[in-house]
Amino acid sequence: MPTRPVGLEWPQLPAKQQPSWPDDGSLERVRETLATYPPLVFAGECDDLRTRLAAASRGEAFVLQGGDCAEMFASATADNIRDRVKTILQMAAVLTYGASTPVVKLGRIAGQFAKPRSKDTETRGDVTLPAYRGDMVNDFAFTPEARRPDPERLLQAYNTSAATLNLVRAFTQGGFADLRNVHDWNKGFIANAANARYEKTAKDIDRAMRFMAACGVDFDALRAVDFFSSHEALLLDYERPLTRVDSRSGRPYATSGHMLWVGERTREIDGAHIDFVSRVSNPVGMKVGPKADPDDLLRIIDKIDPEREPGRLTFITRMGAGTIREALPPIVERLKAEGAAPVWITDPMHGNTFESASGFKTRRLDDIVDEVRGFFEVHEAAGTVPGGLHVELTGNDVTECLGGSVEVRDEDLESRYESACDPRLNHQQSLELAYLVAEMLSA
Ligand code: PEP
Ligand code: MN
Repeated sequence: MPTRPVGLEWPQLPAKQQPSWPDDGSLERVRETLATYPPLVFAGECDDLRTRLAAASRGEAFVLQGGDCAEMFASATADNIRDRVKTILQMAAVLTYGASTPVVKLGRIAGQFAKPRSKDTETRGDVTLPAYRGDMVNDFAFTPEARRPDPERLLQAYNTSAATLNLVRAFTQGGFADLRNVHDWNKGFIANAANARYEKTAKDIDRAMRFMAACGVDFDALRAVDFFSSHEALLLDYERPLTRVDSRSGRPYATSGHMLWVGERTREIDGAHIDFVSRVSNPVGMKVGPKADPDDLLRIIDKIDPEREPGRLTFITRMGAGTIREALPPIVERLKAEGAAPVWITDPMHGNTFESASGFKTRRLDDIVDEVRGFFEVHEAAGTVPGGLHVELTGNDVTECLGGSVEVRDEDLESRYESACDPRLNHQQSLELAYLVAEMLSA
């Protein structure tokens, strides 16, 4: 169990997207406190996830990674957490049943509190303030006090992550995620076409389970579900003090989440973020945008995964629906030719963001579906494995992304736009996407 803080002296490398913390000693005190806190996840769990990701890289499982763009402290309520977990469990049931494949369930949860921003400041009218960088740094409210980076927030991020993960573990290990409850996960959500379709799937799953029970299958294995946590490893003042040496293997692990990923804006080969993830033994994700240079990606592989260990490295491609069919093939083919077999996951959200006529940052469900289709086409043509889906979603009935069978239109966006950062699929749009992806996966 990893309990010792890492004694490593972290090299002083350039780190992008770090807040301007106050220069009053508070950050140092917070870092020291974090270094005394218990790990949120354990090395053995991270290794277990890596084994499952390795299966996904071979096409023997499919990864479903989802959750908020930016978690917020005030939103970490029991109902919100439960509804997000239920949405992921429902999507996983649709995928498992529809495509007869095991699904690796990975939340963007319990640590997704820091955001890279395109500008350091935000201007409204004639007022300019520091940009909102996630609840781990400052507050969303547009006032000078709220936007001032406060290191104490790193401690609150740890505590909120611990509480969130505790509830996630209770839901997924305590019987709630038992496939025999497949109907119950739909309760409480607003009736709509996607929910009705889900009810039908749940009935089919029920029938299959009764059949297996009659055959004498032991259902104990279905009682608990493995649900892993992940977030962007952005704030090194949070991640470094939470790194511990695993007493079994002597290797360091980031203990803030099972999988950490490096964002599109912070993955320079000589930067501090790539250096950090190269030193921890967790499974690591890497966002890959349309301009990615295959040589850069090969250097990243050599640095993070020199042994080419299956499941260690996941490339989360976020290309844009209009771009993926041209931009992804050269990357996938080059890496294949070099013998690299990362897990390939599609993030059909971040390349498809635009500002709607009414002024909201939004995405179209149709574009999201089209990028996923492009992802399957490219991997099919290259003979590589489409290993998973990465989405920003919520269990709530928000109106942030356009489209869906109960259509969210531009004029609806203002009614329930609740995201502090990027637009998320609502519950119904998430289920619709799961059905479409199940079809693509089994085609
Ligand atoms: C994100 O996942 O919220 C994000 C900022 O993504 P990217 O690094 O791909 O832009
Ligand atoms: Mn986002």
